[in-house]
Amino acid sequence: MQKSANVVIIGGGITGCATAYELAVRGVKDIVVIEKQYLSSGATGRCGAGVRQQWGTETNAILARDSVKRFEGMNEELEYDRDIEFKQGGYLMVSYTQNEWNQYKKNVAIQHSLGIPTKMITPQEAQEIVPHLNINGLIGATFCQSDGHANPFHVVDAYYKAASRLGVKFETYTSVTGITRENGKVTSVQTSKGDIAASIVINACGYAAGTICKMVGFELPLYPQRHQALVTEPVEPCQGPMVISLHHRLYCQQTPHGSFIMGVGDPNEPKDFNINSSWEFLEDVARQATTVLPLLKNLRVVRQWSGLYDMSPDANPILDEVPDAKGMWVAAGFSGHGFMVAPQTAVLLAQKILGQNCFMPIERFGLERFSGGELLLESAVV
Ligand code: FAD
Repeated sequence: MQKSANVVIIGGGITGCATAYELAVRGVKDIVVIEKQYLSSGATGRCGAGVRQQWGTETNAILARDSVKRFEGMNEELEYDRDIEFKQGGYLMVSYTQNEWNQYKKNVAIQHSLGIPTKMITPQEAQEIVPHLNINGLIGATFCQSDGHANPFHVVDAYYKAASRLGVKFETYTSVTGITRENGKVTSVQTSKGDIAASIVINACGYAAGTICKMVGFELPLYPQRHQALVTEPVEPCQGPMVISLHHRLYCQQTPHGSFIMGVGDPNEPKDFNINSSWEFLEDVARQATTVLPLLKNLRVVRQWSGLYDMSPDANPILDEVPDAKGMWVAAGFSGHGFMVAPQTAVLLAQKILGQNCFMPIERFGLERFSGGELLLESAVV
């Protein structure tokens, strides 16, 4: 492995790969991405890959809205030789409680103020969009047609290939084991394949971002949390949009290949690195999914897996330089929605690092909000 680089990016998920591309396309030379396993082996390759603009904070809504534009043109922009499979079948967010519905109204007001074309619809209109939706007790729903999902492996592959063409080097199966700092600045990164000197180090390690920050003595306010998902046998297309019921902690989509992918969040899941699959999850998701979408009771499960959310205290990302370790940047804390916002978080971070005008105020994602500043508090997380 090379002995020095201008920029070392730790983590080969979507955040690391997209950031490598955005720096390289802005003219930065000599970038190395270090990934301890294979690209997409972290949360990125385990995610539901949903892309929605229906958020309850302006910050997430802007990042997602602008990322949708990027996903729409990604095959062409990155000159991808395959297809990122971005399908805009919409997101239907259903609400069975009055509190939730009141929150959705506020969220939609934010979305409309940003030009996101979400509609508030009746239970009957929701059932016209998803005929097998259970509308007993449903108060209403919100629907945004331009939301959708993409293939996470292909998206990372597209960034990897585009970045590689611009000269970025990728070192897979290489672990970062330490970071050296001198006079308050990062100077080098230790890896399982040798040291590499660099004055800019980007921590895009998702669930492991806290472990990396500890290497420079900084305690990041993040924690890992297991989230499980499953895929069913493929069946005839019958569900266009992703369906989300926050009340049931459920998300459920049908992929272009006919399989359903779904998951439920578990509020009792401990802060832990555990990624084993559990029987309890299967029971829970089956109960919630067949309550909201009863027709699914006949589907057979093919496979289940789990991955880790990198949770921040307000469920919003951290994009900031580490205090007392100048040159070390954090891009983590995506709290279960890092895939969909990655195209634009990568732009924002690249702009900041290069001293360019940021397309939105990056300070909102700063570390200071955890030490007396104002938390962003995102309510629409599954
Ligand atoms: P990761 O993809 O986790 O990448 C971090 C990388 O760092 C890993 O590849 C890891 O191997 C590497 N690494 C760690 N330690 C080291 C080290 N010491 N040295 C070198 N490399 C190291 N998001 C959405 O937007 N939409 C969804 O529908 C969605 N559904 C999800 C469903 C599930 C079940 C899960 C688990 C997540 C979901 N997410 C979703 C969240 C999304 O997957 C993440 O927010 C996103 O993938 C984060 O990407 P990342 O590149 O920041 O982190």
